[in-house]
Amino acid sequence: MKAAVLEARGAEGLKVIDVPDPVRAPGEAVMKVHASSLNRVDIYMRDVGQGISHALPIILGVDGVGEIVECDRESPLRAGQRVMLFATNFCRRCDYCLSGDQPLCIHARIAGEHRNGCYAEYVSMPDYCFLSLPDNLSYEHAGVLPAAYVTAYRMLFGKRCLEPGETVLVVGAGGGVAVACIQLAKLAGAHVFVTTSSSEKLKKAIAAGADDGVDYTSEAVSARILELTAGRGVDMVVDSVGEASWSESLRSLRRGGRIVTCGATTGGNPSAELQRMFIRQLELYGSTGGSLNEARKLLSLAGSREIEPVIDSRFSLDEIGAAFERLQAPDRFGKVALCVGGQTG
Ligand SMILES: [Zn+2]
Repeated sequence: MKAAVLEARGAEGLKVIDVPDPVRAPGEAVMKVHASSLNRVDIYMRDVGQGISHALPIILGVDGVGEIVECDRESPLRAGQRVMLFATNFCRRCDYCLSGDQPLCIHARIAGEHRNGCYAEYVSMPDYCFLSLPDNLSYEHAGVLPAAYVTAYRMLFGKRCLEPGETVLVVGAGGGVAVACIQLAKLAGAHVFVTTSSSEKLKKAIAAGADDGVDYTSEAVSARILELTAGRGVDMVVDSVGEASWSESLRSLRRGGRIVTCGATTGGNPSAELQRMFIRQLELYGSTGGSLNEARKLLSLAGSREIEPVIDSRFSLDEIGAAFERLQAPDRFGKVALCVGGQTG
């Protein structure tokens, strides 16, 4: 089969080559991959990979949707079934798995990180890692959902649920998770503010559902957010930018507000500002990925057309290098989709 294989670190080390088809272990199912997308973690895997146990060569790609081509006779899946891969191969035995919190599984092995992923014509994973796709959801739309949209869903509604009428600030609108947060927060009835790096992106964020925003290259974020909220500050900040935005994010919160982090693209060690944290009684928590249940809920929203993912650009598997470049382009807004099997509908 054809696959994008990381043979060595860096852009030059990722090559689209022919490799043997995956060999299915008992209990696993093989999916013919139709669509996928790119996520920040793919760049991290390509260029760094530190702290994630794996060996090279490895097939990259966390996101994947397609159809089942092979599974055990007793599997609940069937050949031809349209599915989304839940990329975390969870153990189903640890305390976290037993409580339905698969993203915290202590034995988790993620496709495209710890084991072969979806930038390939076929991928094999345990059959309990495949979720049925709603009939009217295209492969292309479904292929951009798994990492970004499920992550966004858990950030907004997982630990401390965003309520209708609440205000939320989404930092760095443009990235896949941030755009997903705008759409999902709006759908939930929240009032959505964003920070962006240009007026063009701000227009796109408003088209995606944001109510208002701040261009952080020309304005102080917290001053503008306080102005927009009559001096109060927002209930929740979603920040995946890290060091560069952290201080302004904390200053944009209302007393007793909460900040959720799911990434640190500009660095992971901002000042903790503990006095601000305790005096204003702020709450900080982290989030990554989503549970099976959260993925199902997200699929249901997408299937009923309550949310339509924002796709920035489309590439084929052969164009994987260009797709990675687009992912890092400053004007990107939304997901970079990858057509793997030639069928996107
Ligand atoms: Zn587990």
